[in-house]
Amino acid sequence: MTAPLFDRVAFIGIGLIGSSIARVMRRDGLAGSIIACARSDETLNTALELGIADEVTKDPAVAATGADLVMICTPVSTYGAIAAAISPSLKPGAIVTDVGSVKASAIKAVLPHLPEGVHFVPGHPIAGTENSGPESGFDTLFEGRWFLITPPPGTDQGAIDKVAELWTRAGSNIDYLEPEHHDQVLAITSHLPHLIAYTIVGTATDLEDHIKSEVVKYSASGFRDFTRIAASDPVMWRDIFLENRDAVLEMLGRLSEDLAGLQRAIRVGDGDTLEALFRRTREIRRGVVDAGQHIPPSPEDEPPSST
Ligand code: NAP
Repeated sequence: MTAPLFDRVAFIGIGLIGSSIARVMRRDGLAGSIIACARSDETLNTALELGIADEVTKDPAVAATGADLVMICTPVSTYGAIAAAISPSLKPGAIVTDVGSVKASAIKAVLPHLPEGVHFVPGHPIAGTENSGPESGFDTLFEGRWFLITPPPGTDQGAIDKVAELWTRAGSNIDYLEPEHHDQVLAITSHLPHLIAYTIVGTATDLEDHIKSEVVKYSASGFRDFTRIAASDPVMWRDIFLENRDAVLEMLGRLSEDLAGLQRAIRVGDGDTLEALFRRTREIRRGVVDAGQHIPPSPEDEPPSST
């Protein structure tokens, strides 16, 4: 047991990600007390039953009152309204942080609302599962995974260090990225693979009944992995595509061009082109394994090709 890093911690949203880091705080005594805010009685009662919150409220402003650390762990589209609601109750010196999967729009939504003397440290754990809600969290979720910090210029270094310390205690490796760069990288490593999975599973769903039933029966041939990814939270992923629109559209444009090239290679029987690409991509997989980034399950950062 170590001394608490933060006296009072407020969670706005206590689902998979929020409850997982709350479990770490409980396990290692990193928070003096924890108050959780969510919309539903069910989520709040579960947080109390699991012992990951001392108090609960449906009002973000109440949760943020007197908090040393406010962790925003809700879908990214909620950020603006949450930041506006907590702003009057934030105490000077408080740190506000988040775990959202898109960073430029998160900063744009939160920063303008925060009073002078309150520090915003945006972050993103590259870890997750396809499950939602406080009951699906676990305290080892972040072990050996990246936690990316994307501070806007001028962010207080002491606040950054405290947030980094929290995630280091959760077992994460810390890295720092420009918010826009983060969004471009994640567009190709995470967002596009999800879009492809959603598309393939959607296409299969629209097939004639006799084919559809066999798709499920023989799904071990690759389709199964796509269905796992495509089972990820619909609201969270809706927000990710809307909030990271430019980067996703840019990567989607490139993908469409490459796909058209492959389509042509197949039509004209150009085996050399196909084989050259498949050899190149096999090397990429080796690089991922060598970097220790192949450990399932973690749909947000594990595209179907990696399992
Ligand atoms: P989740 O399990 O669905 O939990 C979301 C939480 O937010 C719930 O407690 C929900 O409460 C609460 N909530 C939603 N809207 C709210 C509002 N307007 N005011 C207060 N509370 C609200 O989601 P999650 O997977 O933990 O994701 C949370 C964040 O982490 C997202 O921004 C996501 O981009 C990011 N993230 C997710 C993953 C992943 O793999 N899942 C990985 C990295 C980052 P109710 O249950 O009462 O609605």
